[in-house]
Amino acid sequence: MKLTELENYKNFKDLSIEELKNGYIKKEETGEYACIYCGESFEEGVIYPHGERLLTAEKAVSEHIWEEHGGAFHSLVNLDKQICGLSEIQKSMLYYLYEGNDNKDICDEMGISAATVRTHKFNLQKAKREAKILLALLETAEDETAGSQKRPLEIKKDIDQSNTSRFELNSLHPFFTQFKYK
Ligand SMILES: [Zn+2]
Repeated sequence: MKLTELENYKNFKDLSIEELKNGYIKKEETGEYACIYCGESFEEGVIYPHGERLLTAEKAVSEHIWEEHGGAFHSLVNLDKQICGLSEIQKSMLYYLYEGNDNKDICDEMGISAATVRTHKFNLQKAKREAKILLALLETAEDETAGSQKRPLEIKKDIDQSNTSRFELNSLHPFFTQFKYK
């Protein structure tokens, strides 16, 4: 998937995680379901013949994602690096996890040690945690409706000067920092 093919979707960053996972959006104004990769859309209320079956618009767009783009997971993981930022190693690991391979399978397939597989998995979980924190911060910072609830950040100066004497850096409760591995 090249960046140019996504030009119609300048708001790619505004898609929800659910929409990215599905590979389609529902346009509330028109009631259409549209593929986020090529824009093909399916009208709500229309029945789409598909082989022997008759599909609703939502089932039809879902089927379209499989047939034209190899499925939502495949399309997403194969986005241009400029968009998804994933390294080749990360992509491979995601594929193996998607296919339900255990650590031993991954070792054999990639020809790497069990320790390296664990490190790659750990790094993915770390990236997930960091991505979520960034998302929460950006959504709060960009939330215009929360204007009146925002308070002046006196702590900012301290962060800028790497001076944490007045406000200690927070750490999460251990419950939130324990990762489980298969
Ligand atoms: Zn499409």
